[in-house]
Amino acid sequence: MKHKRIFLASPHMSGKEQKYINDAFVTNWVAPLGPNVDAFEKEVAKYAGSTAAVALSSGTSAIHLALELLEVQAEDLVFCSSLTFAASANPILYQKAIPVFIDSEPTSWNMSPIALERALKDYAAKGRIPKAVIVVNLYGQSADYDPIKQVCDAYEVPIIEDAAESLGATYKGRMSGSIGKFGVFSFNGNKIITTSGGGMLISDDIESLNKARFLATQARDEALHYQHSQVGYNYRLSNVLAGIGRGQMEVLEDRVIRKREIREYYHRELASVPGVTILDEQAYGRSTHWLTTMLLDPKQVGIEPVEIIKVLEENNIEARPIWKPMHLQPLFKQYSYYSHAEDEDISANIFAQGLCLPSGTNMSDLEIDEISNIVKKLISV
Ligand SMILES: *Cc1c(COP(=O)(O)O)cnc(C)c1O
Repeated sequence: MKHKRIFLASPHMSGKEQKYINDAFVTNWVAPLGPNVDAFEKEVAKYAGSTAAVALSSGTSAIHLALELLEVQAEDLVFCSSLTFAASANPILYQKAIPVFIDSEPTSWNMSPIALERALKDYAAKGRIPKAVIVVNLYGQSADYDPIKQVCDAYEVPIIEDAAESLGATYKGRMSGSIGKFGVFSFNGNKIITTSGGGMLISDDIESLNKARFLATQARDEALHYQHSQVGYNYRLSNVLAGIGRGQMEVLEDRVIRKREIREYYHRELASVPGVTILDEQAYGRSTHWLTTMLLDPKQVGIEPVEIIKVLEENNIEARPIWKPMHLQPLFKQYSYYSHAEDEDISANIFAQGLCLPSGTNMSDLEIDEISNIVKKLISV
């Protein structure tokens, strides 16, 4: 083994977390509630520019509760970005609802407003309006919400903003996660900041968030005895983990800056190679570049992304394919899919031609240099 493993994106602690963890131990708030949870919720809500937030055990549980709050039930339709991690779409199946997958547009890789409009028009003609649209902000970059919202508003469909990968990004001056009716963050180990595992649901609708808190705590009615009138979940975040989150929030802006530097570095090294595209930041906002992603034009580059991933792995470096689109997944292939153009499947092409480069904020410039050199050599032969 040549050197220590370089991960795609690994937890990056700042040293500020321990104080909050110690507080939890000293005060014995070792429970799924407590002062760290309350403060972490306030800090994230303030940062994201939303009225309030509910800390949860994962981003997935936040999406699930958002669907519950929008009263998504069996046989209801929910539209969802196809190019995403399965966690965006799994909660639709928890509700026994029917997902409809929407393609990407080619510039940001996020939901195509054109495909969305076609899908909404088609289903509206059949008298079937979706209960929600889950819009994913991929790899640290916001989707283009103005056209997406315009289409959704025309049919009065609420947006759940899956901002699990885009905490710290902006869209036209607004913080990512604050644009939809509900916003979802994840603090899983690979995200820009982490609590080892955790999530957050944000909204300006306080009443809904209070209901989320209730549902996340086993839906226990207000009574001394244990009384329940509906199904609840155990989805609250530990006060110890919320302590990690508070320490991480103190360095979130530093992490965004470093992620952007990493992407800049790769861009400088690789973007001039014929056939290589490093995904760009769109003019409408700041991308955190949570992961730097690269596309290889098969007409100009003689090597497949999987080959590059394999060679990097031989050098103890972790790179990954782009998320496999949901409409190509065995689990979801029976559901309908609307591509960007009738004869152009953008997300399938991105999946076939793209890869994610190691983007951990704890990586050194020397390591980025080594990765770039390996990739450059492979592509140039
Ligand atoms: C990570 C992620 C989630 C899920 O978050 P967890 O905290 O792991 O449950 C949801 N959507 C997207 C796009 C993600 O990347």
